[in-house]
Amino acid sequence: MRPSVLDPLFAAATTLTGVGPKLGQALDKLLGDETHAARVVDLLFHLPTGAVDRRPSPSIADAPIGEIATFSARVVEHRPAPQAKARAPYRVLVEDETGDVTLIFFRADPRHLAQSLPVGAYRIVSGKLELWEGMRQMVHPERILDPQQADALPAIEPVYGLTEGLAGRTMARIVAAAVERCPDLPEWQDEAFHARNDFPAFQSAVQALHRPQALKDVQGDSIARRRVAYDEFLASQLALALVRRQQKKSAGRATTGDGGLRRTLEAALPFSLTDGQRQAIADIHGDMEKPERMLRLLQGDVGSGKTVVALMAMAAAAEAGRQSVLMAPTEILARQHAERLAPLAAKAGLNLALLTGREKGAGRRQVLAGLASGEIAIAVGTHALFQEGVAFHDLALAVVDEQHRFGVHQRLLLGAKGEAVDVLVMTATPIPRTLSLTWFGDMDISILSEKPAGRKPITTRAISSERHDEVVGAVGRAVAAGAQVYWVCPLVQESETLEVAAAEERYEALREVFGAQVGLLHGQMPGRDKDAAMAAFVAGETRILVSTTVIEVGVDVPNASVMVIEHAERFGLAQLHQLRGRIGRGSAASTCLLLYKGPLGPVAEARLSIMRETEDGFRIAEEDLRLRGEGEVLGTRQSGSPDWRVARPEIDGDLLAAARDDARLLIERDPHLETPRGQAVRTLLYLFERDVAIRLLRAG
Ligand code: ADP
Ligand code: MG
Repeated sequence: MRPSVLDPLFAAATTLTGVGPKLGQALDKLLGDETHAARVVDLLFHLPTGAVDRRPSPSIADAPIGEIATFSARVVEHRPAPQAKARAPYRVLVEDETGDVTLIFFRADPRHLAQSLPVGAYRIVSGKLELWEGMRQMVHPERILDPQQADALPAIEPVYGLTEGLAGRTMARIVAAAVERCPDLPEWQDEAFHARNDFPAFQSAVQALHRPQALKDVQGDSIARRRVAYDEFLASQLALALVRRQQKKSAGRATTGDGGLRRTLEAALPFSLTDGQRQAIADIHGDMEKPERMLRLLQGDVGSGKTVVALMAMAAAAEAGRQSVLMAPTEILARQHAERLAPLAAKAGLNLALLTGREKGAGRRQVLAGLASGEIAIAVGTHALFQEGVAFHDLALAVVDEQHRFGVHQRLLLGAKGEAVDVLVMTATPIPRTLSLTWFGDMDISILSEKPAGRKPITTRAISSERHDEVVGAVGRAVAAGAQVYWVCPLVQESETLEVAAAEERYEALREVFGAQVGLLHGQMPGRDKDAAMAAFVAGETRILVSTTVIEVGVDVPNASVMVIEHAERFGLAQLHQLRGRIGRGSAASTCLLLYKGPLGPVAEARLSIMRETEDGFRIAEEDLRLRGEGEVLGTRQSGSPDWRVARPEIDGDLLAAARDDARLLIERDPHLETPRGQAVRTLLYLFERDVAIRLLRAG
């Protein structure tokens, strides 16, 4: 049970004063996920991305031009827009002894301005100060205050990541209210370590993070952020340590098959397995036959053929009369796996079912019944497979596809669900050895180092977006020659709606040229429409698929041999590589066109030229690491990513190592977390939602 001291933090954000249903929805979009709405704790960990300096200048003459300036001035005169020029701005002149500033308001409400800026009164004004024809002016001041309310203006104002329907000031107010709710928590850090680092207490750290006193307080190396980053690492390392201990304790079960189904399947494959695939399959069977639990990582570049290895492993489980699951990170990928694997499974007489959040009603009940009775041998799905209410007759093996999309948390869930389930994790992201030790502990690794025979190299070209029309022409020729084309529109960080709008616009434009041959796929489409768009492309009914990065992970249409990536300069290397891996799968020569909008920065330029030079995923990952730091390789972009809320592995590597050692020692000394520190650490695990690990404490 979660310690009640944390209850205020796990209350919904809508319990904060002034957060109604509409704001609540915007917050959910920003901070919630499938399992929960935005909560107070999510606001606490939503750290400022920057800060605005609103310290007042002594006089107007001293106020900096071209930046945010704050000063006190007397209101001199209102100059409404002339009647005839309705769109001209409304101006208000303010001054002090050293100079004057014209405040400019478009589409102003004169009554409102008369109230907020009465002639003759003094006001504190803050906003971006500019020079225009030698005169100081400020368009739409961000703050106008009566000097008596000066206290309401923090000298350093935090700036937060936002979403549509959520203004900066509103967000700041809501976060401030959340910080008020943060209780004083028992210290879980090691006393000596805490003292040596001069860390503040958790509550003070949270306050400091959201009430910066200086600009440097919002930079990555602030001691307050480092403290919370350590907490986060400690929670995850403790959880991993507990899982590992549990795994060592719980003997697995040997799963031994007679090889019959595997032989049938192999004969049914339209190709012969590569040596690497055979070796990986042998490794996996070797593990499954042992009484210990398997924990194996199957690493192979995009297109190396990991899926069929998973199928053979699942067949081995079925030979022993036991069940398997294949878990994919997205709905589209789960569906595609199911569609691909079902006919093969059928040839071997195996029952395969799909289970995602979208299977509902009678269909869902039927699948659940089949899983419980053991009638279904293989379940393919999303994380919905591991939700409450899904019970298996005899689960032997869990395969997790495209690991980098899953967080530590999901891995824990996996460990907690099955009794002695063998786990095979598949990833296309080569993970440097040092990191993999920290993350996956003592995982065994199989590597598919060769691609299936007959693959042709992909020609990759970087083209300025000014040559868009030529690219459309080339796409037209490729389609006329029978090829299929992915046209990828980029991620828009700030707004999913803008992102979808860009894809829709491109879709409309290409449709004008190519008509009904063009399809559209993006994340905001209803699931059914996504399926239909994907199915039409797979069937060859559409020849050009305009999409957002939803196709990044795992989609497999061998006939697609051309990919256009718009704004390639906005993508990371790993992502470009993943995307490009969608082509070059069939027998035709493939082309990838990276459209960029110049001028390119040095990092973007380096990325594009690496993409042109090599298709080697390992080399690309190394370059990626070099260009962007370790965090990116694991898909843990920054704070706010699914894995790390506050910690930033690229900055906090030293803390990670310390947390790992601390966690090991702690568990050795206090295996059941019973000492006062152990009790405090339980609170920590709940705070960072690694509490699944606490169940393991009970089990062990
Ligand atoms: P990934 O490792 O990226 O998940 P997939 O499992 O999707 O790759 O396989 C990519 C493509 O290669 C699929 O179309 C698959 O059928 C095909 N494939 C897999 N193994 C072989 C092989 N040994 N020979 C030829 N094609 C293969
Ligand atoms: Mg795959």
